[in-house]
Amino acid sequence: MIETGVVVLLLFFSLVVGATLLIKSRQKKRAKANLPQWIRALETACELSKDALVVVDRSRTVLYSNTAAARYIGNGSDGERKKIETLTFNFPEEEKSLGLEQLLHQHRLKRSSEPSIYNDVILGNDEESRVLLEIGTYREEEKGLYYDVLLLRDQSCERKLLQLHHVNPTTGLSNQFKAFGDITKLTAQESRRNRFALMMIELDNASYLRSMLGYAEMDNIITLCANALRELEKNHPLVSVYHLNYVNFMLLIRGPQNQDELYSLFRNFQLSVQETWKMRGKNEALSFSAGISVYPRHGTLYSLLNSAYGALADAQQRGTGQIVVAGESFEQQVDRELQLKSEIERALEDQEFHLYFQPIYDAGDQSLIGAEVLLRWHHPERGIIMPDVFIPVAERSGLIVEIGRYVIARALQHLSHWNTFDLPPLRLSVNLSLRELESPDFISNLTALLYKYDIGRCELKFEITEHTSMINPELTQARLREIRQLGIGIALDDFGTGYSSFAHLVEFSIETLKIDRGFVTDLSENLNHQHIVSTMIKLGHSLGMKVVAEGVESREDVILLRSMGVDYLQGFYFSRPIPKLEFQYLLTHS
Ligand code: C2E
Ligand code: CA
Ligand code: CA
Repeated sequence: MIETGVVVLLLFFSLVVGATLLIKSRQKKRAKANLPQWIRALETACELSKDALVVVDRSRTVLYSNTAAARYIGNGSDGERKKIETLTFNFPEEEKSLGLEQLLHQHRLKRSSEPSIYNDVILGNDEESRVLLEIGTYREEEKGLYYDVLLLRDQSCERKLLQLHHVNPTTGLSNQFKAFGDITKLTAQESRRNRFALMMIELDNASYLRSMLGYAEMDNIITLCANALRELEKNHPLVSVYHLNYVNFMLLIRGPQNQDELYSLFRNFQLSVQETWKMRGKNEALSFSAGISVYPRHGTLYSLLNSAYGALADAQQRGTGQIVVAGESFEQQVDRELQLKSEIERALEDQEFHLYFQPIYDAGDQSLIGAEVLLRWHHPERGIIMPDVFIPVAERSGLIVEIGRYVIARALQHLSHWNTFDLPPLRLSVNLSLRELESPDFISNLTALLYKYDIGRCELKFEITEHTSMINPELTQARLREIRQLGIGIALDDFGTGYSSFAHLVEFSIETLKIDRGFVTDLSENLNHQHIVSTMIKLGHSLGMKVVAEGVESREDVILLRSMGVDYLQGFYFSRPIPKLEFQYLLTHS
């Protein structure tokens, strides 16, 4: 009996529910049937849209929502009108969060028929759900009714793509595109107090290391750098790090207090890489150079980058492990460089460049055997300008080719003049830049000059630097071989300041090693330098080369260097570089 009662009750309930549903669906169908056809087509179009569309009335009750909206506001039971109460919209850029009511109020306050558009909005707490939000309002003027239309476009895919676009694939650090974007954002913030610094960091001697260690090991070094930078970023909330390309990294430091702070960041990074490298049992010396530019002093995006890269290049020229803060803005530097370039062109025409001679002595009997030719610019207004000021500009602009041609011609002219004096054999050393060596008619011009001034073998020597010799080994090697065939010696200048491959020493037919004056000038007080110099001399001799010590400033240096077996001596202890007539006097009276 009881069972029959339950069945009857259930049947009754299903009848009631079924009837209600039927009535509702009829009502809905009737309502829909009353709508014009094109509106129904519009509804289909809205359903097809991947963007979420929601229409709400003034009380935020949903009048319409398409399927795509379900993921944001849920599925309202069919035909029921739901009120959006809890949805919050977070704006990470402005660090604020608003409810729908506030957002609609904000939109209406504008009293504009244009939609309000918000990019990169987070819905609720889901960090991943980034949307583009558009709000438009339809006003039914006669009835005084408002309908707000919300459009939400999923941006998470675009965001992921953008993230990929912003990441260096080797290290996963932010890349140059992200860096450019971040710098632009910072410079766009109006406040002038918004100071920040860019630090460009580059691994020293990367191509040398790559040739020694290979690509795989280089990748390990790059990963090591990236890890050290990540650590640095973790410990310094105002620092962002970037991997721009291959061995080139960048730090963006907001609100730096002073230069020391920047230097210490650089030192910490370098030390961290070096220590990890050593801990892995590796012996190769890893060091970095850095260039810094500062906003607003060095301008905005490109000018800041150019200044930092310029400072980096200066640092690299000074040696390894150096850090330089850009002095002037890039534009100022370019202006100055262009001005100096046109001054050099004028000076060449007006013959303002003069050859000076620094005597070189035999370490054994201390006889004068020759001189190094050093250039001086006798400027009509500024007095004597040293080569460190104009040679780098001449090298960058290519004018060095013309200057070099002039120096060689003059040196040979003097040499041929002194040859008429009946003196012991004399040899002049001329500094040679890579650009000169690379110029196509270098050899033919040199041959013609040797012929013109009747210069014999062993009277001329070229000094090249280790740095120069490393850039394009094949071309350098070929040219040097031709030079050697003309009976001209090659000295490797500034030996010990860069990385030189021992193979190159032999391949380049180097005849003389010139120990850099950095090791020589403090020789008597610096035990380390004594060990290094003595080893360099032995190395040179074991390869069948002669060794010159330059920068000899004291009697103690002379005694030490002689005891180490050095072949030739040059430095202020004997003589500074002197003009032609003075040197001529020395030649004839020594
Ligand atoms: P460098 O080839 O290393 O020239 C030696 C430099 O050491 C010279 O500087 C010389 O004056 C300086 N020096 C020599 N003995 C001593 C010493 O005992 N103590 C100290 N403190 N310094 C000493 P300078 O004349 O200023 O030349 C600087 C650089 O400019 C040269 O370095 C060379 O690289 C470049 N240079 C000079 N003339 C020419 C040139 O005609 N062509 C090219 N390509 N470069 C040149
Ligand atoms: Ca030299
Ligand atoms: Ca030198």
